[in-house]
Amino acid sequence: NRIRKDNPTMNSKNTHLKVDLGERSYPIEIGTGLLKDVKLLARTVQGNRIAIITNTVVAPLYLESLTRSLNEAGKQVISLVLPDGEQEKNWESLMKVFDFLMEHKCDRKTTLVALGGGVIGDMTGYAAASFMRGVPFVQVPTTLLAEVDSSVGGKTGINHPLGKNMIGAFYQPEAVIADTSTLNTLPDKELIAGLAEVIKYGAIIDAGFFEWLEKNIEKLLNREDEALVYAIRRSCEIKADIVRQDERESTGLRAILNFGHTFGHAIEAGLGYGQWLHGEAVGCGMVMAADLSARMGWLDESFGNRIRMLVKKAGLPVVAPALGAERWIELMQVDKKNIGGEIQFVLLKALGKAVVAKVPEDMLLATLKECVA
Ligand code: NAD
Ligand code: MG
Repeated sequence: NRIRKDNPTMNSKNTHLKVDLGERSYPIEIGTGLLKDVKLLARTVQGNRIAIITNTVVAPLYLESLTRSLNEAGKQVISLVLPDGEQEKNWESLMKVFDFLMEHKCDRKTTLVALGGGVIGDMTGYAAASFMRGVPFVQVPTTLLAEVDSSVGGKTGINHPLGKNMIGAFYQPEAVIADTSTLNTLPDKELIAGLAEVIKYGAIIDAGFFEWLEKNIEKLLNREDEALVYAIRRSCEIKADIVRQDERESTGLRAILNFGHTFGHAIEAGLGYGQWLHGEAVGCGMVMAADLSARMGWLDESFGNRIRMLVKKAGLPVVAPALGAERWIELMQVDKKNIGGEIQFVLLKALGKAVVAKVPEDMLLATLKECVA
């Protein structure tokens, strides 16, 4: 009995789901105290040799505790601490990972563990995809964005000086372990940025989840575990379901995950990357995409208002920066979704129902006029 009480693994809120991809299927474990859950780690992290890749911000917070648990699970652990930041998601960092693995004589059976946000996850995943033509890897996401988005779905990679995420591979992890306790140290701004992607899942697929978010956004902002676990679970389920149907973005379905992103990317690029966090730009971008959907006569205006309200309540910006209409359009034309220069928007036909479409220019200009400062 005493063991039960002291053991965080017995937390009834903890949950898991499966990303169903045939022989590449994997579990997502979500809950509090998972980094200390020796049994769960023994079960989900395969192999006896583990190389943890993390960064200078996350290492002092969680590296020791994860290493100790993995040791207790009978595993040999080495770790590499990279510098922090999006600007480090590059070829030099990737080479540092390879140097480290070579120097430590790692082999095909070494499991890479990504401990950190999306930057560490994307980079470690790509290193795992290419080292010895592929070694197992496990995602241990420590930002909300990574727990609901980047750790799920198998997109891995690094930036090229001329473009974000331009070098990479589809490579699925063996498991995702999302410990919501790690979110307690996350800066507010980063938590809020992650909420943009959570709101997105409700808007594009699940009106019921959207409604739940309207009622529970305060709890998420207060980092209440039960609410976080539920929101992360539902987000992962939705993403996993889309990825299952369109793993390599070939049928167009996966593109609906870019709701808010066409406008959002224009904001990020137009202001210079790093001015607004990605999630902030996506939050504002969703408000703009909802406005455009209403103009197309597809989305009832009341739903558009609800999206704006929820984005605002989450603490995300709802007014876009003035870049000039011409510049806006130019920036949106370079979006990866586009075919032959025509801008493809993810719009809503209803709350919970997204489509990919082109729009007449006068409608787009009207949206820009309405939503820009
Ligand atoms: P990030 O990895 O840079 O993390 C944000 C900041 O929080 C960093 O400074 C980080 O060190 C710090 N941090 C991480 N965990 C922390 C914790 N628990 N406590 C305190 N600080 C912590 O950024 P992100 O938002 O997690 O991820 C963004 C990256 O993810 C981008 O490079 C983006 O391209 C990528 N991404 C990939 C996918 C995909 O499908 N692969 C999807 C979305 C985004
Ligand atoms: Mg995104």
